Amino acid sequence: MRVVLTGFRGTGKTTVGGILAARLGLPFIDVDRLIEERAGRKIPRVFREEGEAGFRRMERDAIASLPGGDSVVSAGGGAVIDPVNVEALRRGSLVFLLQAGEGTLSARIGTSDRPSLTGRPVADEVGELLRERMPAYLRAADHCISTESATPEEVAGMIAGILRDGPALPGRREAGLGFVGRIPMDPGEREMLTPVLRRKGGFPSGLCGIAGYPCSHSRSPVLWNRLFARYDLPYHYTALEWPDIGEIVGAARDLGIRALSVTIPFKEKVMPLLDAIDPEARAIGAVNTVVQCGGVLRGYNTDWVGIRAPVEDLEGARAVVLGAGGAAAAAVYALRSLGMEVTVLNRTGAKAVQLADRFGVRTGPLSSFRTIRPDLVVNATPVGMAPDRSSLLAAADLEKGMTVFDLVYTPPETPLLSIARSAGCRVIAGTEMFIHQAREQFFHVTGIRVPEALARELV
Ligand code: NAP
Repeated sequence: MRVVLTGFRGTGKTTVGGILAARLGLPFIDVDRLIEERAGRKIPRVFREEGEAGFRRMERDAIASLPGGDSVVSAGGGAVIDPVNVEALRRGSLVFLLQAGEGTLSARIGTSDRPSLTGRPVADEVGELLRERMPAYLRAADHCISTESATPEEVAGMIAGILRDGPALPGRREAGLGFVGRIPMDPGEREMLTPVLRRKGGFPSGLCGIAGYPCSHSRSPVLWNRLFARYDLPYHYTALEWPDIGEIVGAARDLGIRALSVTIPFKEKVMPLLDAIDPEARAIGAVNTVVQCGGVLRGYNTDWVGIRAPVEDLEGARAVVLGAGGAAAAAVYALRSLGMEVTVLNRTGAKAVQLADRFGVRTGPLSSFRTIRPDLVVNATPVGMAPDRSSLLAAADLEKGMTVFDLVYTPPETPLLSIARSAGCRVIAGTEMFIHQAREQFFHVTGIRVPEALARELV
């Protein structure tokens, strides 16, 4: 297993990397040193002569050339901004993000001969770049370690401890394992989980899962486990089907679970249990993705990305959203981000008004559909989900040229989509949302951009 250290300049990657490599008896590769060797020049000179773009090209080539076997690698501060580098660094590796506060980093960097990237004073540059890069650092790392008040030897010791004992909180592993043991799952899945959680056979793996009730029939485990295998990431993904989201989040903290996909009925209930919430998820009022690094649980929403991607060509269109629950809120957010004129139609009028007021859009009863004659209809209700065979709209409601997007994805061809197809409408199946939201979720958890064609193939 390769161990990769990332982080801003001044976090101690190179010093810690050297100490850790010696301690583990592994070769140590410092990517900046490798770039200098390959360029035949020092990095400040590369910056002067070729600019940052030239340096980043060399960095990408150097990272692509890294050997895959057991080693300790220290990657440059800006390397993980590029998803291509993240994919290369993550293969067969565990990635540790070393962190420290702005003040500490400014003091440590003050004496460096590396040129400023922004031409501004060190403290300003550190603050600005840290804020800009932090999302990329967090996506690319499996573990976050504070170097603020620890010596390089102590930091190397903390990393060695995680490599040996896994990500579970000290003293909490048994409690977390007890919880997972109570979740009903088939014997084959339980057998897969045992080495991951018990750290048998030197298995340095981590866990991700879907939190829902019910969720045991979700397609997510199959897709995620195929993606983990494809990118050679040390994770297993399982269905955590349990009625209490508080207990699931507690176990995620106990066991150091890297990420949770959150589904019905927890997308809103999970929010107060988290340490930080992304502004988009806050605006939508629902979280469907939780990522953990360094004991901090952050919530995101990728449903809106899954709804937006298939209809991006309809910018400015007139749209109707059927339903006023969590998926409808993500739909309204997505369609508004494309400048669409949105009307929310819902069975319970008060809920439609509540949602419409939050986003400043129109509302009405389901019966008003025909008066609107929209370009786009998004079904964000469970109507038509197997075994239900009904549709909220009839053929007479629809016109040729309309686009009908059904978020329901079981079955792939819902009654609404069949009706829309025969009325000459363009149809978009719920699987489209599933694919795009999952690609975005995987990006939040790993920093890797999965090509659309690959996601389709693996689904
Ligand atoms: P939710 O919060 O429970 O909201 C459901 C909405 O549907 C409510 O507004 C409800 O109206 C309405 N509704 C339910 N039954 C109805 C009926 N028989 N007639 C008319 N309206 C009805 O659910 P959600 O989280 O928003 O999810 C909605 C659907 O989106 C799910 O069932 C799922 O199929 C789909 N979804 C798909 C994906 C994907 O990746 N493709 C992801 C997430 C969700 P009231 O307000 O009157 O109760």
